[in-house]
Amino acid sequence: MSRSVPAIVILGNGSLATARLIQRSLPGALIYGLSTRVEGADVVYQEFGATLRELYTTNTPIIALCAAGIVIRTLAPLLLEKGVEPPVLVVAEDASAVVPLLGGLGGVNVLAREIAESLGIAAAITTSGELRFGTCLLNPPSGYTLGDLELGKRFVSDLLGGEPVRIEGDAPWLAQAQLAQDQQARLAIHVGSTEREPSANELLIYPKSVLVLVNEEVADLADAIRKRLHNANIAVHSLACLLASEQQMASQALRDAAVELNVPLRFSRADTVCEQLAELTSPPLTVHGDNGITVAVAEHPLDPSRIGRARGRLAVIGLGPGAADLMVPAVKLELTRANDVLGYETYVRMAGPFRADQVLHCTDNREEMQRARHAFELAAQGRSVVVVSSGDPGVFAMAAAVLEALHESRDPAWHSVDLEILPGVSASLATAAQAGAPLGHDFCVLSLSDNLKPWEIIEKRLALTAQADLAMAFYNPISRSRPWQLGRALEIVAQYRIAETPVVLGRDIGRPGQTLRVTTLGQLTADQVDMRTMVLIGSSTTRVFPRAQGLSWVYTPRSYGDKLVEIK
Ligand code: SAH
Repeated sequence: MSRSVPAIVILGNGSLATARLIQRSLPGALIYGLSTRVEGADVVYQEFGATLRELYTTNTPIIALCAAGIVIRTLAPLLLEKGVEPPVLVVAEDASAVVPLLGGLGGVNVLAREIAESLGIAAAITTSGELRFGTCLLNPPSGYTLGDLELGKRFVSDLLGGEPVRIEGDAPWLAQAQLAQDQQARLAIHVGSTEREPSANELLIYPKSVLVLVNEEVADLADAIRKRLHNANIAVHSLACLLASEQQMASQALRDAAVELNVPLRFSRADTVCEQLAELTSPPLTVHGDNGITVAVAEHPLDPSRIGRARGRLAVIGLGPGAADLMVPAVKLELTRANDVLGYETYVRMAGPFRADQVLHCTDNREEMQRARHAFELAAQGRSVVVVSSGDPGVFAMAAAVLEALHESRDPAWHSVDLEILPGVSASLATAAQAGAPLGHDFCVLSLSDNLKPWEIIEKRLALTAQADLAMAFYNPISRSRPWQLGRALEIVAQYRIAETPVVLGRDIGRPGQTLRVTTLGQLTADQVDMRTMVLIGSSTTRVFPRAQGLSWVYTPRSYGDKLVEIK
């Protein structure tokens, strides 16, 4: 299992120097600094507890430069829940101590040793097995996996009790371990890909050395693979990846099987699959063929990232209005998966911070179709690509451009990309929420930009929307190249709505320096609005009342009640 990139979390400027030292030995790691106390961090956070818990639940290794007690208390509520446990360790801000706290099976001691070494000190390792044997037997290196954790723990306590051990099979990483070895020992560490009955006397470690060539037409694929492996006496634990023909790249059955078996799914050109198998390792693989499922066993662990290629992924994501806590979790997760991030520079910056290995492609706001095609080109190579929009990607943003590019393309590689649109909180909804509920009844969303549609259509829609007594949300209300359009739009609306109609102006909502104003249609002038403003215009039923601190609430009731409206 490869470790994800750690987050270095600090609370004050006093820890910055040590944080930078640690960062130097951990490529891609970012320093998270408390907004009010740290200058020059890579990521600025507002709240320590929420940040730490979010890192923990997204399985991010945590290196906190503060007292162990603070970290323990902060994470305590999460510890009772079973699930991921990333490495968590604390480092003294003067670089005098490195203390691993959690994530023994996630390699916390290995990380602690690395950090300690970079600081020229010794790590405070407390795990008995680790101290005695110099390695965590239950956390084999990448390319190997443990058979059973509970049995493993018992096995390690027996070893700690002083019993000797036999090593069966090839375990290069144990060459350095301080184990009392004896060929006659009752206890054995067994490394191999053959299926074995679990037993208390054996610590079973499986090399990820088995590749299964699959075909989507096989019924109940995951089950069929398990049976096939069982019949060949091969442990399912040793499965390194599934390989299929590129023609089947979009197959849901293949994807489900890979998810169920928890292994990567790779693709290769049908005519080269056999050559690929032969080239994979030397000495060559043992191949067990069968209709639809071919099992190949290598002598050493396989590296799936070097077998064929992955199905490319393209996610069009919405960042929400700007504030990190208004970004949906699926979008945050997607950003951590991305190899490439495309978008207008301002939004790409908003989506950060990024790791050193993530490639950013910032382009001008106008080059939408070009950006969409570029995204498919990258994804078709097997990369994981994210296209960013602010707010929601489907509201005057990139999702439609991406779909249009796909619709126009005949390239099968583009059509087999795993395409997903992930929603965000659109500016109209973020603004409405801050003002109350001005869009609480039927409403209409309009862009006032005539760059992509004729102005006559906009005028017609404004008139009909106003007549239909819909509340309105204006996106792109004004810009330097469109100076008069908003004024004209307001004239049209004023023909159907009284001057007292409530209006909400939200500028940079969810971003630093946001402003919210409540005014009326009669008082609204174009100079109060710029291109970073959302304009919400109430319907005939929209009401305003004061709230504390001089602000007001705006809402449109759910019901018309006994109010009479005339809709022509
Ligand atoms: N996809 C975006 C909208 C893009 S159109 C979304 O769903 O929000 C750009 C327009 O959206 C801007 O001209 C402005 O009117 C509005 N807008 C975007 N972000 C905003 C914000 N944070 N505050 C106020 N208005 C915003």
